[in-house]
Amino acid sequence: MKRGKKLYAGKANTLYEVLSDDGSVEEYVLEMESTDRISAGDGERTDVVKGKGYANNLVSTLLFKLFEEAGVPTHFISEGTTPSSKFVKKADMIPLEVIGRNYTAGSFCRRYGVDEGIELDPMLLELTYKCDASHDPLITEHAAVALGIIDGETLENIVDYTYIINDVATDFFDELGLTLIDFKVEFGFDRATGEFMLADEFSQDTCRLHDAEGNSVDKDIFRRGDSNGEVSSTYQKMVDMLEAMNK
Ligand code: ADP
Ligand code: UDP
Repeated sequence: MKRGKKLYAGKANTLYEVLSDDGSVEEYVLEMESTDRISAGDGERTDVVKGKGYANNLVSTLLFKLFEEAGVPTHFISEGTTPSSKFVKKADMIPLEVIGRNYTAGSFCRRYGVDEGIELDPMLLELTYKCDASHDPLITEHAAVALGIIDGETLENIVDYTYIINDVATDFFDELGLTLIDFKVEFGFDRATGEFMLADEFSQDTCRLHDAEGNSVDKDIFRRGDSNGEVSSTYQKMVDMLEAMNK
């Protein structure tokens, strides 16, 4: 498979058309490139962080393979044409962000006025509705079904698979000496088969990770305004840790 024309450039990832060996367009496959673009505050602050795309693609690819092994259907097909990309099954995305929280942080603390770092066991699941005009509001499970965003069976799949994803990712990062604080995942339906699957990514852009001293090893470094060099070395730290573990 070869890379075709650019279809969509998001805040952090770019999606490309894919061509088969005879040059025809693969209808049901995309190439997803993790880029060095970074943004915070609904895209208000942006920068370019050297090595981020490579680090994110590396960790996301490793995790998606483990999710598959644990029985979670995913969009991952194979490594892509660059070290920062992968071929994925084209999805009709569900417009929900599914957030799993093992410890309080971020918007959860702001919303409820609670301290950071309180353990949430079992993992707490939240949904936000991807709707730019309303700034991605929190949405209850019942509202998501009532509004026809998802049906009851899809809701069950989202909940069941997100708990498995949390278990797999928690163990994976635990081996690196990192605690998975929270994360965001997105699901969709395989355009070719209609199958429900995990899509998008699981990376330092989309989760919070703390080392043994409580230091962030994720995008929070950028959110709080650290220098470009510090942000870059935070992403590089993940690559170094994975290499040290022969991952
Ligand atoms: P954003 O669109 O919020 O700026 P990204 O930069 O991460 O986010 O862009 C990636 C886009 O690709 C997201 O909108 C995501 O929903 C979408 N996406 C992820 N996986 C797939 C897939 N398998 N098929 C189609 N779209 C996907
Ligand atoms: N997250 C994300 N994309 C978003 C919003 C949140 O990947 O658009 C991730 C974020 O990195 C964190 C988790 O979801 O790991 C929970 O984020 P939170 O709701 O606390 O929001 P934030 O504090 O980032 O505004």
